[in-house]
Amino acid sequence: MKRTEISALGEFGLIKTLTQNTTIFHSETVKGVGDDAAVMDLGDKYLVTSTDMLVEGIHFDLSYYPLKHLGYKAIAVNVSDIAAMNAKPKQILVSIAISNRFSVEALQELYEGMKIACQNYQVDLVGGDTTSSRSGLVLSVSVLGMVEKHKIAYRNTAQKGDIICVTGDLGGAYAGLQILEREKQVFLTNPDMQPQLEGKDFVVKRQLRPEARMDIIHELEELGVVPTSMIDISDGLASEVFHICTQSNLGAMIYEDKLPIAQETYDTAINDLNISPVTCALNGGEDYELLFTIKQEDYEKIKNHPDISTIGYTTEPEKKINLAMRAGNVIPLQAQGWQHF
Ligand code: ADP
Ligand code: MG
Repeated sequence: MKRTEISALGEFGLIKTLTQNTTIFHSETVKGVGDDAAVMDLGDKYLVTSTDMLVEGIHFDLSYYPLKHLGYKAIAVNVSDIAAMNAKPKQILVSIAISNRFSVEALQELYEGMKIACQNYQVDLVGGDTTSSRSGLVLSVSVLGMVEKHKIAYRNTAQKGDIICVTGDLGGAYAGLQILEREKQVFLTNPDMQPQLEGKDFVVKRQLRPEARMDIIHELEELGVVPTSMIDISDGLASEVFHICTQSNLGAMIYEDKLPIAQETYDTAINDLNISPVTCALNGGEDYELLFTIKQEDYEKIKNHPDISTIGYTTEPEKKINLAMRAGNVIPLQAQGWQHF
């Protein structure tokens, strides 16, 4: 029998291969695989649902990840996928695989973080599953949300000439991760060394305590703006621009000098990590900001928003996806995303 390596397909290719030819039996299923959340028709509203798994050693390292923050993050990253549909989260289910390496107190700490997140995002923890694990901790969270039908934002509905927007700032979570990894290596080499995290609170927090941008979802609603498409930025801006553009059959022009990068991220990238801040913003992951497109006529409504940056516009697909550099030249945008396999 033929054997294909997972690495030959990559994560997205694998998902496509495994889920192609799945049968949809119910007319209520409006959207299955392929967006930030699946969509079900409830009559007057849409129910949206998504699930995300965090695995020790892959998504987090407990030697520097406080359990309380981890609990918070597990909820936040799921809520972020609901936000990416322009929906509001309502209920959450939490499944854990644990070993006796963890005390009850440690697990209570984890749940303390989850409860704070549930409070902040106003979601109800309504169930889950508990099982044992031989190796690391595994957290699997599923979330349910709701949205009025005319407000839903898919990945594949951007139109040519839309304005591309991004919330907050980018690259911070990646810079924070690199700093934490660096300090871990220093500690492993010499356990007497104290971690040098001074002045790094901003980027470290961006990594350890990501926030889902539900605030923006509420503000867009108040401004009367329904994005023509939306996705959350979990794998890096470049990868997410590709998702929106390929699924909407469009090209895009992104402007390097419009990418929102916080001063702290910029300084850390240059001074500590010796990498380009733009690379952090484009290909670093886990910022959990929102990338969305709006109709040109909605520009006036968002142009003064302090936490929304307009970074480019969509074009016809033949023009491909390009990055206009500060220097004036235009280069094809490269999407690295995250290579899990
Ligand atoms: P996100 O980054 O927003 O969490 P993913 O890239 O994980 O989204 O997933 C993309 C799409 O593929 C989603 O619609 C998700 O539900 C679906 N998907 C991912 N893994 C699987 C799987 N093992 N089986 C079926 N669907 C999957
Ligand atoms: Mg997502």
